[in-house]
Amino acid sequence: MLHRLLATCLPLVPTPVMRRLSARYISGEAISDALGRLEDLKAEGYPGVIDLLGEEVPDNAAADAACEEYLAATEGIASRSLDAYVSIKPTHFGLALDAKACLARFRRVAELCGELDLRVRIEMEDAHYTDATLSLYEDLRSTHPHSGVVVQARLLRTPTDIAALGPGDHDVRLVKGVYLEPAEIAHTDPQAISDAYVSCAEQLLERCAHVSFATHDDVLVERLEQLITSASAPPPHELQVLDGVRPSFWKTWRTAGHTVRVYVPYGSDWRAYSTRRMRRNPELFKAVTKSMLFGE
Ligand code: FAD
Repeated sequence: MLHRLLATCLPLVPTPVMRRLSARYISGEAISDALGRLEDLKAEGYPGVIDLLGEEVPDNAAADAACEEYLAATEGIASRSLDAYVSIKPTHFGLALDAKACLARFRRVAELCGELDLRVRIEMEDAHYTDATLSLYEDLRSTHPHSGVVVQARLLRTPTDIAALGPGDHDVRLVKGVYLEPAEIAHTDPQAISDAYVSCAEQLLERCAHVSFATHDDVLVERLEQLITSASAPPPHELQVLDGVRPSFWKTWRTAGHTVRVYVPYGSDWRAYSTRRMRRNPELFKAVTKSMLFGE
């Protein structure tokens, strides 16, 4: 209740204060900020992912602008020899406006990534977009096999979606799912979400050429470790984390032998984006507030 109230008041917080509070999570407004952060992480031994903040663009011009920005970010990754790749929300490329044009934008970015020997990731948004995103992924993968997608353990449909992935290799990031979905279509209890995550992980380890486990949940990572150790021939896999979230665990996991890839968001839309996300998911707001007040 208190968190909902605080989340409602977020627009009243002065921008410089919000900026200071979010500095740990958002690298800055320009591509150079994100690339600079990736260079720092590289020096510490962490590969990265770049995300330009934004979603649900109002028109095709905004989607085209996002596409140009992602092309520039991809060039920047290559020219600085970073172990990183771009990760894109379909509605940022106009999925809600025109699915064909959205695919064409993804193809442009994936084409460049292919030339530069980089991966590219399609992110997963709320459940209205699951079908369209999976179909976008299969279309993109048919011409650009270095493309990957995200699936959400929270959704009841996900085991079926994993089973229905097309023939050939897949590169999948598994997340709990940041969008709160109704009980008719999703697990809502945290333990049930974690159990579903482990079960999806098992399926993905059997089905994929590469799996990324994106989570900061240390208990869940222990369960994943057991799963990986007991699998007969697990594919290459890695852990992925959001920049600024529970960094002491990154070190523990890396020391245990895991690749830990850090997700670095940037962009001028940081304030609207953070506010929207925290409103949609009060648990996220709680996590961020707790982490800002008490460290980890
Ligand atoms: P939780 O149980 O939520 O968190 C574990 C611990 O980490 C708790 O102590 C919690 O307080 C802390 N914590 C978690 N998140 C934060 C935070 N933001 N700030 C401060 N503390 C935090 N979701 C999608 O729906 N689609 C995507 O495409 C997507 N991509 C992602 C990519 C990456 C690299 C990561 C790490 C997450 C992504 N997510 C995505 C979000 C994901 O679905 C979860 O909402 C998020 O990771 C929190 O869940 P958790 O597994 O860390 O477990």
